[in-house]
Amino acid sequence: SIPYATTQFASLEQALKHYFGYDSFRPGQRQMVEYALHDRDLLVIMPTGGGKSLCFQLPALLKEGVMIVVSPLIALMQDQVQALQNNGIPATLLNSSISQAESQSRQAAILDRKIKLVYVAPERLLSESFLGFLDQVKVRVGISAFAIDEAHCVSEWGHDFRPEYRQLRRLRHRYQNDDRIIPILALTATATERVRHDILGQLELHEPHIHVASFNRPNLYYEVRPKSSVRQAYTDLFQQVQRTEGSGIIYCLSRKRVDEITAKLQQDGISALPYHAGLSDAVRKENQDKFIRDDARVMVATVAFGMGINKPDVRFVIHYDLPRNIEGYYQESGRAGRDGEPSRCTLFYGVGDIRTVEFLIAQKVDPLTGEPLEAEQRIATQQLRRVINYAEATECRRTIQLGYFGEGFPGNCDTCDNCCHPKPIEDWTLEAQMFLSCVARFAQKGQHFGINHTIDVLRGSKNERVLKLGHDKLSTYGIGKDRSVEEWRLLGRSLLHQRLVDETTDGYSVLQLNNLSWEVLKKQRSVMLAVDQAKPERSVTETAV
Ligand code: ADP
Ligand code: ZN
Repeated sequence: SIPYATTQFASLEQALKHYFGYDSFRPGQRQMVEYALHDRDLLVIMPTGGGKSLCFQLPALLKEGVMIVVSPLIALMQDQVQALQNNGIPATLLNSSISQAESQSRQAAILDRKIKLVYVAPERLLSESFLGFLDQVKVRVGISAFAIDEAHCVSEWGHDFRPEYRQLRRLRHRYQNDDRIIPILALTATATERVRHDILGQLELHEPHIHVASFNRPNLYYEVRPKSSVRQAYTDLFQQVQRTEGSGIIYCLSRKRVDEITAKLQQDGISALPYHAGLSDAVRKENQDKFIRDDARVMVATVAFGMGINKPDVRFVIHYDLPRNIEGYYQESGRAGRDGEPSRCTLFYGVGDIRTVEFLIAQKVDPLTGEPLEAEQRIATQQLRRVINYAEATECRRTIQLGYFGEGFPGNCDTCDNCCHPKPIEDWTLEAQMFLSCVARFAQKGQHFGINHTIDVLRGSKNERVLKLGHDKLSTYGIGKDRSVEEWRLLGRSLLHQRLVDETTDGYSVLQLNNLSWEVLKKQRSVMLAVDQAKPERSVTETAV
């Protein structure tokens, strides 16, 4: 009893060829299509570019009735519908920007059985008038399924929460007590356990088949580069852009940063354009079009850019600032190399960025009461911690990223900086003891200082603050002359990162010894350090991708 046997096609492959011109299914697609044809609820989790759309588009064409497709972005829907129409596939779009007359003619075509796929924005779908129309469709034409694209938008744990997605469960309720449940096909490129769990619960999926594709993107090279100063980081960035052929995206945290980097790149002869929420819709659209048409090579953008942008030949994605979470980083960097060609993903990482993100997190307050949004702040802090772990890691970048999605990866990928250039690990226990005993000397005097002052004392600086405080009299003064400021900074950061010392804020950040610090001081614990990061000024070596 294969439902598609009643159609004109001998096999699914033939149908695939007929409608889309492809010779074969990508991994997972055929199975998803079969489940959809058998009216199963589905949760399809595939990385961007994996070919999710086909998992609902082909069943829509082969099943009775119309399929209702929900997608969060109108621009994204327009592109998809346009592409389908260009292939002669009967799809249409309903949204609030369409004129009354046009909307009515589209609705008439749907009731006339001339349409197989209807794309709708969630807020429109859930309006009473539209639900009324949908009831008619159900009776007169039939609804083959609801396809919920970007299903992670139901989850606060995802990177793109949309409150209106929470309402989508009403569809299930409204059509529940009928002769049969209308299947829901949920699709997303977001695979964390939490988000997956949320989708299943929020959409009330019924015995769904869950398909999780591998999230590994073998053609992407991942690297983290140090950002010790704005000048060094820009020079490094510029060189990367200059020697890479093809287009690229540079993500920055703020609009101001986007404008700065764009201006600098333009001055340096790179055709770069900005994209952020501070620009008018018209300018944003124009810049985006130019980028897609290759009239501009580089898009400098905030995270506002990229979702649903279909440009397969992006050769590099650079994060000039720290991403807010690993998930977002995976998605944003994943916009490189959708055509499967080798591409490069670079993350610039400097300790100053941590402060910036922490500052942004502290600003998450209730707009009405001004009370801090503690739950949100906690989630954001946890996510930041994982980003720092990723950036400071010495193991395979893929192992960390994929591990975040619950996917095991053996390492040795051969296409990440840590696998290609393993960082030398050194024993820095002695230096750590010097550093921590310096903090202990301050504490004896009832004082607390940050990393920079500690380094000044260790290196025997004669600066005013050191002398005024009489810190040139401390037993730890000048004992660390043999190491550079940069090396001490790396050690300090690493101690914090490994929780071997605490940091508290007292107006500004100060160091505080904890139990583990004392273990180090009592020689009960050794301290290892990946020393490569201590030399950010090292020559920029090209890595064959
Ligand atoms: P996703 O929504 O998962 O990001 P898409 O559905 O947009 O991915 O598909 C990504 C690209 O792969 C598109 O250009 C699409 O045309 C192409 N594609 C999808 N399935 C196949 C297939 N079976 N054979 C060849 N190309 C495919
Ligand atoms: Zn690796």
